[in-house]
Amino acid sequence: MDKIIYLDNAATTKINEEVLNEMLPFFKEIYSNPSAVYSFAGKAKAAVDKAREQAAGLIGAKPGEIYFTAGGSESDNWALKETIQAYSSKGKHIITSKIEHHAVLNTCKYLEGHGCEVTYLDVDKDGKISLEDLKAAIRPDTVLISVMAANNEIGTIEPIAGIGKIAHENGVLFHTDAVQAYGHIPINVDEMNIDLLSASGHKFNGPKGTGILYIRKGVKTSSFIHGGAQERNRRAGTLNVPGIAGFGKAAQIAKDTMEERNIKVTHIRNCLVNRVLEEIPYTRLNGHRTDRLPNNVNFCFRFVEGESMIILLDQLGICASSGSACTSGSLDPSHVLLAIGLPHEIAHGSLRLTLSEETSMEDISFVARELKKIIEKLRNMSPLYEDFIKNHK
Ligand SMILES: *Cc1c(COP(=O)(O)O)cnc(C)c1O
Repeated sequence: MDKIIYLDNAATTKINEEVLNEMLPFFKEIYSNPSAVYSFAGKAKAAVDKAREQAAGLIGAKPGEIYFTAGGSESDNWALKETIQAYSSKGKHIITSKIEHHAVLNTCKYLEGHGCEVTYLDVDKDGKISLEDLKAAIRPDTVLISVMAANNEIGTIEPIAGIGKIAHENGVLFHTDAVQAYGHIPINVDEMNIDLLSASGHKFNGPKGTGILYIRKGVKTSSFIHGGAQERNRRAGTLNVPGIAGFGKAAQIAKDTMEERNIKVTHIRNCLVNRVLEEIPYTRLNGHRTDRLPNNVNFCFRFVEGESMIILLDQLGICASSGSACTSGSLDPSHVLLAIGLPHEIAHGSLRLTLSEETSMEDISFVARELKKIIEKLRNMSPLYEDFIKNHK
Protein backbone atom coordinates (compact mmCIF):
# COMPACT_ATOMS: atom_id res chain seq x y z
CA MET A 1 0.00 0.00 0.00
CA ASP A 2 1.98 2.99 -1.26
CA LYS A 3 -0.69 5.18 -2.69
CA ILE A 4 -3.17 6.94 -0.47
CA ILE A 5 -6.58 7.79 -1.87
CA TYR A 6 -7.55 10.68 0.34
CA LEU A 7 -11.32 11.08 0.46
CA ASP A 8 -11.64 13.03 3.69
CA ASN A 9 -11.41 16.56 2.38
CA ALA A 10 -14.26 17.75 4.60
CA ALA A 11 -12.00 17.01 7.59
CA THR A 12 -9.02 18.83 6.15
CA THR A 13 -7.31 19.41 2.82
CA LYS A 14 -3.76 19.28 1.53
CA ILE A 15 -2.11 22.66 1.32
CA ASN A 16 -1.76 24.01 -2.20
CA GLU A 17 1.91 24.22 -3.29
CA GLU A 18 1.52 27.86 -4.36
CA VAL A 19 0.00 28.68 -0.99
CA LEU A 20 2.91 27.11 0.83
CA ASN A 21 5.40 29.05 -1.30
CA GLU A 22 3.55 32.26 -0.54
CA MET A 23 3.94 31.59 3.19
CA LEU A 24 7.59 30.56 3.41
CA PRO A 25 9.25 34.01 3.19
CA PHE A 26 7.23 35.15 6.21
CA PHE A 27 8.84 32.47 8.36
CA LYS A 28 12.34 33.30 7.13
CA GLU A 29 13.28 36.66 5.66
CA ILE A 30 10.18 38.71 6.45
CA TYR A 31 9.66 37.68 10.05
CA SER A 32 8.87 41.12 11.47
CA ASN A 33 5.82 41.91 13.53
CA PRO A 34 3.48 43.74 11.13
CA SER A 35 2.42 46.13 13.91
CA ALA A 36 5.95 47.54 14.31
CA VAL A 37 6.78 51.05 13.13
CA TYR A 38 10.17 50.53 11.41
CA SER A 39 10.23 49.98 7.69
CA PHE A 40 11.26 46.30 8.06
CA ALA A 41 7.67 45.70 9.20
CA GLY A 42 6.30 47.16 5.98
CA LYS A 43 6.45 44.00 3.90
CA ALA A 44 4.70 41.94 6.56
CA LYS A 45 2.01 44.58 6.89
CA ALA A 46 1.60 44.73 3.12
CA ALA A 47 1.17 40.95 3.01
CA VAL A 48 -1.59 41.12 5.62
CA ASP A 49 -3.35 43.92 3.73
CA LYS A 50 -3.18 41.93 0.51
CA ALA A 51 -4.53 38.80 2.19
CA ARG A 52 -7.38 40.80 3.70
CA GLU A 53 -8.36 41.96 0.22
CA GLN A 54 -8.15 38.43 -1.14
CA ALA A 55 -10.19 37.00 1.74
CA ALA A 56 -12.84 39.70 1.26
CA GLY A 57 -12.85 39.34 -2.52
CA LEU A 58 -14.09 35.77 -2.38
CA ILE A 59 -17.36 36.79 -0.68
CA GLY A 60 -17.97 40.32 -1.95
CA ALA A 61 -16.98 41.88 1.39
CA LYS A 62 -14.82 44.93 2.10
CA PRO A 63 -11.30 44.27 3.42
CA GLY A 64 -12.11 46.24 6.57
CA GLU A 65 -14.82 43.71 7.42
CA ILE A 66 -12.41 40.74 7.59
CA TYR A 67 -10.89 39.71 10.93
CA PHE A 68 -8.21 37.03 10.98
CA THR A 69 -8.63 34.26 13.54
CA ALA A 70 -7.06 30.90 14.32
CA GLY A 71 -9.75 28.86 12.57
CA GLY A 72 -13.39 28.06 12.10
CA SER A 73 -14.05 27.08 15.71
CA GLU A 74 -12.73 30.39 17.02
CA SER A 75 -14.74 32.35 14.46
CA ASP A 76 -17.94 30.51 15.42
CA ASN A 77 -17.31 31.06 19.14
CA TRP A 78 -16.61 34.73 18.58
CA ALA A 79 -19.64 35.28 16.33
CA LEU A 80 -22.08 33.74 18.78
CA LYS A 81 -20.74 34.70 22.19
CA GLU A 82 -19.80 38.27 21.47
CA THR A 83 -22.89 39.17 19.45
CA ILE A 84 -25.15 37.92 22.20
CA GLN A 85 -23.09 39.93 24.67
CA ALA A 86 -23.10 43.11 22.58
CA TYR A 87 -26.87 43.02 21.97
CA SER A 88 -27.95 41.78 25.39
CA SER A 89 -30.19 44.81 25.90
CA LYS A 90 -32.36 43.53 23.03
CA GLY A 91 -32.54 39.96 24.31
CA LYS A 92 -30.75 36.65 24.60
CA HIS A 93 -32.44 34.42 22.05
CA ILE A 94 -30.57 32.61 19.27
CA ILE A 95 -32.01 30.53 16.44
CA THR A 96 -29.84 27.81 14.95
CA SER A 97 -30.32 24.38 13.37
CA LYS A 98 -30.01 20.84 14.65
CA ILE A 99 -27.32 19.97 12.11
CA GLU A 100 -24.71 22.62 12.90
CA HIS A 101 -21.07 21.74 13.50
CA HIS A 102 -20.20 21.24 17.17
CA ALA A 103 -18.32 24.56 17.12
CA VAL A 104 -21.77 26.19 16.91
CA LEU A 105 -23.85 23.60 18.81
CA ASN A 106 -21.53 23.42 21.82
CA THR A 107 -21.19 27.20 21.90
CA CYS A 108 -24.99 27.38 22.00
CA LYS A 109 -25.01 24.86 24.83
CA TYR A 110 -22.48 26.99 26.71
CA LEU A 111 -24.61 30.09 26.16
CA GLU A 112 -27.72 28.26 27.42
CA GLY A 113 -25.81 27.78 30.65
CA HIS A 114 -25.32 31.54 30.75
CA GLY A 115 -28.89 32.73 30.47
CA CYS A 116 -29.46 32.49 26.72
CA GLU A 117 -32.31 30.70 25.02
CA VAL A 118 -31.69 28.74 21.86
CA THR A 119 -34.17 27.41 19.30
CA TYR A 120 -32.84 24.47 17.28
CA LEU A 121 -34.63 24.27 13.94
CA ASP A 122 -35.50 20.87 12.52
CA VAL A 123 -34.38 19.92 9.05
CA ASP A 124 -36.21 17.93 6.37
CA LYS A 125 -35.13 14.53 5.03
CA ASP A 126 -32.50 16.19 2.82
CA GLY A 127 -31.11 18.27 5.67
CA LYS A 128 -32.62 21.65 4.84
CA ILE A 129 -34.21 23.99 7.32
CA SER A 130 -37.65 25.38 6.51
CA LEU A 131 -37.94 29.14 6.01
CA GLU A 132 -41.47 28.98 7.43
CA ASP A 133 -40.17 27.39 10.63
CA LEU A 134 -37.51 30.07 10.78
CA LYS A 135 -40.04 32.90 10.48
CA ALA A 136 -42.18 31.31 13.18
CA ALA A 137 -39.23 31.00 15.55
CA ILE A 138 -38.31 34.70 15.49
CA ARG A 139 -39.24 36.53 18.70
CA PRO A 140 -38.88 40.16 19.83
CA ASP A 141 -35.81 39.12 21.85
CA THR A 142 -34.12 37.21 19.01
CA VAL A 143 -30.64 38.63 18.49
CA LEU A 144 -29.05 36.18 16.10
CA ILE A 145 -29.82 33.49 13.55
CA SER A 146 -26.88 31.13 12.99
CA VAL A 147 -27.35 28.58 10.21
CA MET A 148 -24.51 26.92 8.34
CA ALA A 149 -24.01 27.56 4.64
CA ALA A 150 -23.33 23.90 3.86
CA ASN A 151 -23.26 20.85 6.07
CA ASN A 152 -19.96 19.11 6.71
CA GLU A 153 -21.39 15.59 6.86
CA ILE A 154 -24.07 15.34 4.20
CA GLY A 155 -23.04 18.32 2.06
CA THR A 156 -26.51 19.89 1.90
CA ILE A 157 -26.47 23.59 1.01
CA GLU A 158 -28.87 25.63 3.17
CA PRO A 159 -31.07 28.37 1.68
CA ILE A 160 -28.86 31.12 3.08
CA ALA A 161 -30.08 33.91 0.80
CA GLY A 162 -33.62 33.21 2.03
CA ILE A 163 -32.48 33.08 5.64
CA GLY A 164 -30.62 36.37 5.31
CA LYS A 165 -33.66 38.05 3.79
CA ILE A 166 -35.92 36.91 6.62
CA ALA A 167 -33.33 37.92 9.21
CA HIS A 168 -33.06 41.43 7.85
CA GLU A 169 -36.81 41.89 7.38
CA ASN A 170 -37.12 41.13 11.06
CA GLY A 171 -34.17 43.16 12.31
CA VAL A 172 -32.23 40.07 13.39
CA LEU A 173 -28.53 39.46 12.71
CA PHE A 174 -27.52 36.54 10.51
CA HIS A 175 -24.35 34.52 11.09
CA THR A 176 -23.39 31.62 8.84
CA ASP A 177 -20.77 28.98 9.51
CA ALA A 178 -19.43 28.87 5.96
CA VAL A 179 -16.43 26.69 6.77
CA GLN A 180 -17.48 24.06 4.20
CA ALA A 181 -18.75 26.59 1.68
CA TYR A 182 -16.10 29.33 1.59
CA GLY A 183 -13.84 28.69 -1.39
CA HIS A 184 -16.11 25.87 -2.57
CA ILE A 185 -19.33 27.52 -3.72
CA PRO A 186 -20.22 31.15 -4.58
CA ILE A 187 -21.14 33.36 -1.62
CA ASN A 188 -21.92 37.07 -1.60
CA VAL A 189 -22.44 38.65 1.80
CA ASP A 190 -24.43 41.60 0.43
CA GLU A 191 -26.73 39.66 -1.88
CA MET A 192 -27.31 37.06 0.84
CA ASN A 193 -27.72 39.56 3.70
CA ILE A 194 -25.03 37.89 5.78
CA ASP A 195 -23.84 39.88 8.82
CA LEU A 196 -21.22 37.49 10.16
CA LEU A 197 -19.47 34.60 8.41
CA SER A 198 -16.93 32.04 9.62
CA ALA A 199 -14.37 30.40 7.36
CA SER A 200 -11.31 28.22 7.93
CA GLY A 201 -8.10 28.04 5.87
CA HIS A 202 -7.45 24.31 6.07
CA LYS A 203 -10.82 23.40 4.54
CA PHE A 204 -9.91 24.92 1.14
CA ASN A 205 -6.24 24.06 0.65
CA GLY A 206 -4.93 26.76 2.96
CA PRO A 207 -2.95 26.40 6.18
CA LYS A 208 -4.29 24.87 9.39
CA GLY A 209 -4.86 27.18 12.33
CA THR A 210 -6.07 30.08 10.18
CA GLY A 211 -9.53 31.47 9.70
CA ILE A 212 -11.60 34.57 9.31
CA LEU A 213 -14.67 36.09 10.81
CA TYR A 214 -16.40 38.47 8.46
CA ILE A 215 -18.26 41.15 10.45
CA ARG A 216 -20.48 43.50 8.47
CA LYS A 217 -19.65 47.15 9.04
CA GLY A 218 -21.85 48.52 11.81
CA VAL A 219 -22.43 45.18 13.55
CA LYS A 220 -21.38 45.41 17.19
CA THR A 221 -19.31 42.62 18.66
CA SER A 222 -17.02 42.89 21.62
CA SER A 223 -13.49 41.56 21.52
CA PHE A 224 -13.26 37.80 21.92
CA ILE A 225 -9.52 37.59 22.62
CA HIS A 226 -8.50 40.39 24.96
CA GLY A 227 -5.04 41.92 24.80
CA GLY A 228 -3.37 44.19 22.29
CA ALA A 229 -5.02 46.42 19.71
CA GLN A 230 -4.56 44.12 16.72
CA GLU A 231 -7.38 43.69 14.19
CA ARG A 232 -8.84 47.11 14.99
CA ASN A 233 -9.10 46.32 18.70
CA ARG A 234 -11.31 43.32 18.02
CA ARG A 235 -8.92 40.37 18.11
CA ALA A 236 -5.76 40.61 20.16
CA GLY A 237 -2.57 38.70 19.46
CA THR A 238 0.41 39.13 17.14
CA LEU A 239 -0.79 38.41 13.64
CA ASN A 240 0.05 35.01 12.16
CA VAL A 241 1.58 36.59 9.07
CA PRO A 242 2.58 33.37 7.24
CA GLY A 243 -0.83 31.86 7.96
CA ILE A 244 -2.67 35.01 6.92
CA ALA A 245 -0.65 35.30 3.70
CA GLY A 246 -1.47 31.63 3.02
CA PHE A 247 -5.15 32.12 3.74
CA GLY A 248 -5.27 35.05 1.31
CA LYS A 249 -3.49 33.16 -1.43
CA ALA A 250 -5.75 30.14 -0.98
CA ALA A 251 -8.80 32.43 -1.21
CA GLN A 252 -7.45 33.98 -4.40
CA ILE A 253 -6.81 30.59 -5.99
CA ALA A 254 -10.18 29.25 -4.85
CA LYS A 255 -11.92 32.19 -6.48
CA ASP A 256 -10.00 31.92 -9.75
CA THR A 257 -10.51 28.16 -10.11
CA MET A 258 -13.93 27.60 -8.52
CA GLU A 259 -16.09 27.29 -11.60
CA GLU A 260 -13.90 24.90 -13.56
CA ARG A 261 -12.98 22.86 -10.49
CA ASN A 262 -16.60 22.39 -9.48
CA ILE A 263 -17.62 21.15 -12.92
CA LYS A 264 -14.84 18.55 -12.81
CA VAL A 265 -15.35 17.45 -9.21
CA THR A 266 -19.14 17.28 -9.56
CA HIS A 267 -18.81 15.02 -12.59
CA ILE A 268 -16.46 12.58 -10.85
CA ARG A 269 -18.58 12.69 -7.70
CA ASN A 270 -21.76 11.91 -9.65
CA CYS A 271 -20.08 8.94 -11.31
CA LEU A 272 -19.21 7.57 -7.88
CA VAL A 273 -22.74 8.13 -6.54
CA ASN A 274 -24.43 6.54 -9.55
CA ARG A 275 -22.15 3.55 -9.60
CA VAL A 276 -22.51 2.81 -5.89
CA LEU A 277 -26.30 3.22 -5.94
CA GLU A 278 -26.57 0.94 -8.98
CA GLU A 279 -24.18 -1.75 -7.82
CA ILE A 280 -24.73 -1.95 -4.07
CA PRO A 281 -28.28 -2.78 -2.94
CA TYR A 282 -29.91 -1.35 0.22
CA THR A 283 -27.90 1.83 -0.09
CA ARG A 284 -29.12 5.37 0.51
CA LEU A 285 -27.54 8.67 -0.51
CA ASN A 286 -27.81 11.11 2.38
CA GLY A 287 -28.19 14.83 1.77
CA HIS A 288 -29.83 16.77 -1.03
CA ARG A 289 -29.36 15.28 -4.46
CA THR A 290 -28.45 18.55 -6.22
CA ASP A 291 -28.17 21.31 -3.59
CA ARG A 292 -25.03 19.82 -2.17
CA LEU A 293 -21.32 20.54 -2.06
CA PRO A 294 -19.66 19.39 -5.30
CA ASN A 295 -17.22 17.11 -3.50
CA ASN A 296 -19.50 15.47 -0.94
CA VAL A 297 -20.82 11.91 -0.92
CA ASN A 298 -22.55 10.40 2.09
CA PHE A 299 -24.10 6.94 1.99
CA CYS A 300 -25.84 4.66 4.40
CA PHE A 301 -25.42 0.95 3.77
CA ARG A 302 -27.92 -1.16 5.61
CA PHE A 303 -26.67 -4.04 7.78
CA VAL A 304 -23.15 -2.60 7.93
CA GLU A 305 -21.22 -0.72 10.64
CA GLY A 306 -19.55 2.49 9.54
CA GLU A 307 -16.46 1.74 11.60
CA SER A 308 -15.88 -1.65 9.98
CA MET A 309 -16.05 -0.07 6.53
CA ILE A 310 -13.51 2.58 7.47
CA ILE A 311 -11.08 -0.03 8.76
CA LEU A 312 -11.32 -2.21 5.65
CA LEU A 313 -11.02 0.82 3.34
CA ASP A 314 -8.00 1.94 5.33
CA GLN A 315 -6.28 -1.37 4.60
CA LEU A 316 -6.47 -0.40 0.92
CA GLY A 317 -5.07 3.08 1.50
CA ILE A 318 -8.46 4.76 1.23
CA CYS A 319 -9.10 7.53 3.79
CA ALA A 320 -12.81 7.89 4.48
CA SER A 321 -14.93 8.90 7.41
CA SER A 322 -18.02 7.63 9.12
CA GLY A 323 -20.62 9.86 10.64
CA SER A 324 -20.66 7.95 13.88
CA ALA A 325 -17.66 7.49 16.10
CA CYS A 326 -14.88 9.53 14.59
CA THR A 327 -16.30 12.97 15.18
CA SER A 328 -17.13 12.51 18.82
CA GLY A 329 -14.91 9.64 19.88
CA SER A 330 -18.06 7.89 21.03
CA LEU A 331 -20.31 5.41 19.32
CA ASP A 332 -23.30 7.70 19.12
CA PRO A 333 -24.64 8.00 15.60
CA SER A 334 -24.21 11.37 13.93
CA HIS A 335 -26.59 14.10 15.13
CA VAL A 336 -26.96 15.15 11.49
CA LEU A 337 -28.14 11.73 10.31
CA LEU A 338 -30.57 11.48 13.22
CA ALA A 339 -31.87 14.98 12.40
CA ILE A 340 -32.70 13.95 8.82
CA GLY A 341 -34.82 11.18 10.31
CA LEU A 342 -32.66 8.09 9.99
CA PRO A 343 -33.12 5.44 12.67
CA HIS A 344 -30.05 4.66 14.79
CA GLU A 345 -29.27 1.33 13.14
CA ILE A 346 -29.18 2.86 9.67
CA ALA A 347 -27.28 5.98 10.77
CA HIS A 348 -24.57 3.66 12.11
CA GLY A 349 -23.86 2.39 8.60
CA SER A 350 -22.84 5.73 7.16
CA LEU A 351 -19.82 6.53 5.05
CA ARG A 352 -18.65 9.98 4.02
CA LEU A 353 -16.33 10.36 1.04
CA THR A 354 -15.22 13.91 0.26
CA LEU A 355 -13.28 14.42 -2.95
CA SER A 356 -10.68 16.96 -3.98
CA GLU A 357 -9.59 18.41 -7.28
CA GLU A 358 -6.93 15.71 -7.36
CA THR A 359 -9.38 12.81 -7.12
CA SER A 360 -9.31 10.97 -10.44
CA MET A 361 -11.80 8.77 -12.25
CA GLU A 362 -9.42 5.83 -11.65
CA ASP A 363 -9.45 6.53 -7.91
CA ILE A 364 -13.23 6.53 -7.95
CA SER A 365 -13.47 3.28 -9.96
CA PHE A 366 -11.11 1.60 -7.54
CA VAL A 367 -13.08 2.85 -4.54
CA ALA A 368 -16.44 1.80 -6.01
CA ARG A 369 -15.15 -1.67 -6.86
CA GLU A 370 -13.53 -2.27 -3.48
CA LEU A 371 -16.43 -0.80 -1.59
CA LYS A 372 -18.78 -3.26 -3.24
CA LYS A 373 -16.60 -6.16 -2.09
CA ILE A 374 -16.29 -4.73 1.42
CA ILE A 375 -20.04 -4.28 1.82
CA GLU A 376 -20.69 -7.81 0.56
CA LYS A 377 -18.13 -9.21 2.97
CA LEU A 378 -19.52 -7.33 5.95
CA ARG A 379 -23.11 -8.18 5.11
CA ASN A 380 -22.23 -11.85 4.81
CA MET A 381 -21.02 -11.66 8.40
CA SER A 382 -24.17 -9.93 9.63
CA PRO A 383 -26.92 -12.02 11.29
CA LEU A 384 -29.37 -9.17 10.64
CA TYR A 385 -28.67 -9.36 6.94
CA GLU A 386 -29.08 -13.13 6.98
CA ASP A 387 -32.52 -12.81 8.62
CA PHE A 388 -33.49 -10.06 6.24
CA ILE A 389 -32.60 -12.10 3.16
CA LYS A 390 -34.44 -15.18 4.52
CA ASN A 391 -37.59 -13.14 5.10
CA HIS A 392 -37.44 -11.65 1.63
CA LYS A 393 -37.03 -14.88 -0.25
C1 LIG B 1 -14.13 22.06 10.25
C2 LIG B 1 -15.35 22.85 10.58
C3 LIG B 1 -15.34 23.77 11.64
C4 LIG B 1 -14.14 23.97 12.52
O1 LIG B 1 -13.09 24.63 11.84
P1 LIG B 1 -11.60 24.54 12.43
O2 LIG B 1 -10.81 25.49 11.57
O3 LIG B 1 -11.15 23.14 12.29
O4 LIG B 1 -11.66 25.01 13.84
C5 LIG B 1 -16.49 24.49 11.87
N1 LIG B 1 -17.60 24.32 11.12
C6 LIG B 1 -17.64 23.45 10.10
C7 LIG B 1 -18.88 23.32 9.28
C8 LIG B 1 -16.52 22.68 9.79
O5 LIG B 1 -16.58 21.80 8.79
